[in-house]
Amino acid sequence: MKSVRVAVVGAGVVGFSTAVCIAEALPFCSVTLLAEKFSPDTTSDGAAGILFAAKFPDIPLEKQRRWFKDSFDHLLAIAQSQHSPEAGVMLSSGWQIFKEVPADKRPFWSESVIGFRFMTESELKRFPDHKFGQAFTTIKCECVNYLPWLETRFRKAGGQVEQRKVHSLQELSSSYDIIVNCSGLGSKTLVGDDTVYPVRGQVLKVEAPWLQHFIRDGDGKTYIYPGIHSVTVGGTRQEEDWRLHVDEGDTKSILARCSSLEPSLSKARVLSEWVGLRPGRRNPRVEKELVQLQGRSVPMVHNYGHGGWGVTLAWGTALDALGLVRQCLHEMPLQAKL
Ligand SMILES: Cc1cc2nc3c(=O)[nH]c(=O)nc-3n(C[C@H](O)[C@H](O)[C@H](O)COP(=O)(O)OP(=O)(O)OC[C@H]3O[C@@H](n4cnc5c(N)ncnc54)[C@H](O)[C@@H]3O)c2cc1C
Repeated sequence: MKSVRVAVVGAGVVGFSTAVCIAEALPFCSVTLLAEKFSPDTTSDGAAGILFAAKFPDIPLEKQRRWFKDSFDHLLAIAQSQHSPEAGVMLSSGWQIFKEVPADKRPFWSESVIGFRFMTESELKRFPDHKFGQAFTTIKCECVNYLPWLETRFRKAGGQVEQRKVHSLQELSSSYDIIVNCSGLGSKTLVGDDTVYPVRGQVLKVEAPWLQHFIRDGDGKTYIYPGIHSVTVGGTRQEEDWRLHVDEGDTKSILARCSSLEPSLSKARVLSEWVGLRPGRRNPRVEKELVQLQGRSVPMVHNYGHGGWGVTLAWGTALDALGLVRQCLHEMPLQAKL
């Protein structure tokens, strides 16, 4: 019999990854994923989904390296299996180029990706404004496919799914023994975290099947990521900007910047435009706490605030969240587990 009731709030890449990890590892738990929005309407769905990361300032680098590697290895196994097309996970090779040589020429994740090396002088010739570049193979994980694939995996492990907005944690206190918060930007209101903020991103999908390699400017604002059905070009990083509509000025700027890196893009047809709000935070919050809800102490595990790197780090932080759920189980009074 399933004795411990776990609620996971959030159906983005972080929520579904966490829910799958818990449901598969802890079969005696009854896991329910609750969310207001599901695929294709989450932020995760519009992300380019390329695996890269920048450093978070206050999290030990060893931990960030592990988060990256755990996610990369998990997705690499999918990319190299028969599940790849259905799950929307593919290998992607290309270049990250810099106008000035960066202080950190070899990023902390360089040993996790495949074949990391510096670009040669002759490779850099096609980018005359750039002085330095890195060439490697990483992964592109398209959440429009990956989230439904994870949902199937979650249901197979016995998980249940409920579409609902959680207005207050009090609503969950009598029905669940452990609450796992993966609500991304929603954590601002759900758990009153004022340090989470939106980082607006606009991207376009274009038809350019001749492009096979990604190109990313090291400033993080301009990128070209070929995917399964189209090429994602971007982008913007506008902090504290809540606008969800497409901005024509941004569209023009994206097309101009991307065409200057890859002139053939001026011939590509625009298929769609999209805006999403990254859950910005100084560091992702992956920790547990006890919250007082209607006179009860309820263990809560947080996993949110991944900023521009949620697809990259989702599986790694989900494994840590699973570890925190295990700790909550050990600390729970015996009768709650019966
Ligand atoms: C333009 C753009 C490009 C990006 N490209 C990349 C990339 O290449 N690589 C990468 O790693 N990352 C990328 N990102 C970042 C990535 O999209 C995010 O880090 C990631 O989607 C965060 O996932 P999440 O599950 O935390 O949040 P979300 O996907 O936003 O999901 C949050 C979930 O919580 C639910 N929720 C919130 N509040 C409540 C509530 N009160 N009650 C019920 N449910 C609630 C929502 O409905 C939703 O289901 C990009 C983002 C943008 C905008």
